[in-house]
Order: sequence, then C-alpha cells, then structure tokens
Amino acid sequence: MKHSLRVKLSFSYALVALISVVLIMAITNLFLDKYFREYVKNNQEQKNKDVISSISHQYQNNGKWNMEMIETIGVRALENGLIIKVKDKNGNIIWDATVHNNGMCQRIIEHMAQNMSSRYPHMKGRYTEVPYPVNSGLTKVGEVQIGSYGPYYLSDNDLAFINTLNKLLIGIGIFSMLFSLVLGSIIARKLSSPISRVIGSAQSIAKGYFSDRVLERSNTKEICQLTSTINNLAGTLEKQEILRKRIGADVAHELRTPLATLQSHMEAMIDGIWEPDAERLKSCHEEIIRINKMVGDLEKLARYESESLVLNKTSFDISELIHRIVLNFEPEFKNKDIKLAFNGKIEEVFADKDKISQVVINLVSNALKYTPEGGTVNISVKGAEDITEVSVKDNGPGIPQEDLPFIFERFYRADKSRNRLTGGSGIGLTIVKAITEAHKGRIEVQSRVNHGTEFILSLPKETNQ
Ligand code: ADP
Repeated sequence: MKHSLRVKLSFSYALVALISVVLIMAITNLFLDKYFREYVKNNQEQKNKDVISSISHQYQNNGKWNMEMIETIGVRALENGLIIKVKDKNGNIIWDATVHNNGMCQRIIEHMAQNMSSRYPHMKGRYTEVPYPVNSGLTKVGEVQIGSYGPYYLSDNDLAFINTLNKLLIGIGIFSMLFSLVLGSIIARKLSSPISRVIGSAQSIAKGYFSDRVLERSNTKEICQLTSTINNLAGTLEKQEILRKRIGADVAHELRTPLATLQSHMEAMIDGIWEPDAERLKSCHEEIIRINKMVGDLEKLARYESESLVLNKTSFDISELIHRIVLNFEPEFKNKDIKLAFNGKIEEVFADKDKISQVVINLVSNALKYTPEGGTVNISVKGAEDITEVSVKDNGPGIPQEDLPFIFERFYRADKSRNRLTGGSGIGLTIVKAITEAHKGRIEVQSRVNHGTEFILSLPKETNQ
C-alpha cells in the first residue's frame, strides 16, 4: 500500500518520539529502582542505628534500664514502622512491641507487604527480625531485635514518590508524542506541499504544455534541484518540440522550390511548350539530384543527432586521415584554382574515424564551395595536452556577424541566393556539430566578411583509451 510522504513523515516522527519516551522510561525506571533501593536500604539502616543508639543510652550505670524511655522509643519506632524487641544481657525480654500492641504490629507488617507487592508483585519478601547488640562503652549490655519487611520495604512516602515520577514520565511521553505528531505533520506538510505542487506542474508539462515551468520557491536543497531539473527537462522538451515543428516546416519549405521547378518544367514539356531536349532533361535531373542529396543529408543528420548515436571509437592519427582527405579534394581545388595547404604532425586521437572524417569533409567542402577562384585554404592539426585542434581556414567571403550564431542550425544559409547556385542544403554544419558534440568536443567559427572564415574543431583527448 502506498502512503503519502506527509503520512509517512508524521508517523515516523511519532514513532521516534514513542521509542525515545519508552526507552527513557525504561532506563529511568531501571536506574530509579537500583538507586532508590539503595537509598531506602541506607535510610532504614540509619533508622535502625538511631533506635539502637537511643536504647543504649537508656542503660544506667547501676545495671538497670530506663523502662519509661525504652517504651517511648519503642512506641515511636512502631509508629515509624519498626517493630522492636529489647532484651537484657541475659536474653530476657524487657520490652516487646508485639506485647505492647500486637494489633498494630500486625497491621504494620500487612501494610509493608501490601506496599511491596503493589510495586514488586513478583518479589518474595517476608517479615524478618535482625538482632543488634546494645553496648555501653565496650561491653554488651543487651540486644535489640528490629523487625521489618525484608530485604527492604517502601514506605507510603517512597511509594508516592515513585508513582508521581512514573505519572510524570507517562505525561511527558504522551505530551511529546502529541507534540511530535503535530510538529511532524507541520514539517511534513511544509515538505510535501511544494513536492505536490512540483508534481502538478510536471504533470502539466507531461501533458504537452512544454512552456509551463515549475515556479516553486523553496529553501530545501533537494526541492530546488528537483524544480530546476524539471524546468531544464521542460526546456529541452520545448526546444525539441520547436525543432520538430521547424524541421517539418523547413523540410516542406526546402522541398517545395525544387519540386515546383520540376513540376513546372515537366508540365511545360507535357503540354508541348518545351521540347524535352537533353538540356531541359539535364536540368530536371539536376533538380532531382539536389532533392536526393537533401533527403540523404537529412537522413544522415537524423542518424547523427539521434540519441543512440553510437560511436565506434578507435585510436588513429588524425593528421594522416586529413592528409588523405586533402589528397582526394586536390583535383577539385585545382579546378577552382584554390591553393590548398595542410600542416600537421602525427596526432593520435581516440574517436570515431568515419564520423570525424565526415566532419573534415564537410568543413573542407564548404571552404571549397565558398572560397572564390584564386583563394587559399589552410588546414592544420595542433595537439595540446588535453585537446586536439583541427583548423580549416579560408580567405573567402566570410560570414556576416549576424549569421554566425545560426550557421550550425539545419537549413540555415547565410546567403540564400548564393547557395542556390552552390546547391548547399544548409545541413553540412549541423552534421558537423552533431558529430562533434557526440565526441564531447567543440566546434567554433571565426569569420570576418571579405577576410575569410576559420572553423576550429576541438576534440578532447580521452583518458580511457
Ligand atoms: P551548406 O550546405 O549551405 O553549405 P552548411 O551547413 O555547410 O550548409 O553551412 C551553412 C552556411 O554557413 C552556408 O550556407 C554558408 O552561408 C555558411 N558557410 C559555411 N562555411 C562557410 C565558409 N567556409 N565560408 C563562408 N560561408 C560559409
């Protein structure tokens, strides 16, 4: 069965309070019993000593006892719960409490037994008489037998003290339980209310209201973390949603132009307005190739951007890889009369070779595409302690400052009209970014209009090679 955080917290507070009170009560009773018993025993012993000392003073030098005083002492002792019997040195009883008032002695003994069994029902005590010698100077002149309930007994006052203390402890226990229940439920409410509100907001986000945010302010660290995590999640979902909608719109937009061109060309040829000659068919064919390339690029991008982008990492020399790419590109650069230079020493990286090769190809083909005839493109590899940097630098037209933040976004083209000619789909750099980020690397661009552009790819050197 599932219980709310509030119920659980309240009950755990109450349970902790209950356990603490029970423990305190048990420990207090244990110690109380031990020390109180000692105290009672000592007290009784002291009383006995007082009685013996008083009686020893009643022995007179002529060998006689002051019988009046002995009776007074005996009666007072009886009132205090001590049943005494005084004997002379020959063992003859000279005063006996049971003879003086047997009824009272019986009542006292019964009362003691009652007091003890009320507190210790299992204790086996009984009436005992202990003989004490009575001395006058150093000589024994008689004996006092003091009878009481043994091994010790609790007087009415002792019992009242213990009972009051126990009542007090039970009262404190009940009070602290109620207090912790109330306090627990207040604290629990303080904790659970923001969580409930966060849940409410999260549910609304889950329903698709991605622009909703959790506005909960809390001074509990975990709740703040929860709030910011949910808000980040909502932010990511919102971005994804916008991206998803935009991709749909962008794809439709990008495909519309070449498809419309194709359609009008075909219709003109069907209607006999245009001769379906080789040149017209070639133009249509080029349009189809363009659409095909775009679809291919999109497919690649979807693959690279998908969360399950699996990197097949190996250790390889990135300079050697780039050198081979440069060699492949050389004829095209020559055709366009662009100087292509590569500079780099052996530089081992731990990465996905095919995907890194795709990144370099995209950057180099952009440099080739956008650098005018007679230009220069420099490619270099630099190794630092924890990163490897690849730079592709051209002295082409550059990218306007206002376009720089967007060039890595899909379908973004800084100069639409120029790209119509070059045939770019605006996906190349998006692929570069997706692959770089999957490698936990960075791609940066520095560009000035009419001065050229430099793309710098930084790859972290991984320790787990
Ligand atoms: P495209 O297929 O249009 O080249 P990319 O994503 O590769 O798409 O590039 C996006 C835009 O960035 C390009 O349309 C272009 O305007 C700009 N760009 C990229 N590389 C360069 C470069 N080396 N010089 C000038 N502009 C560039």
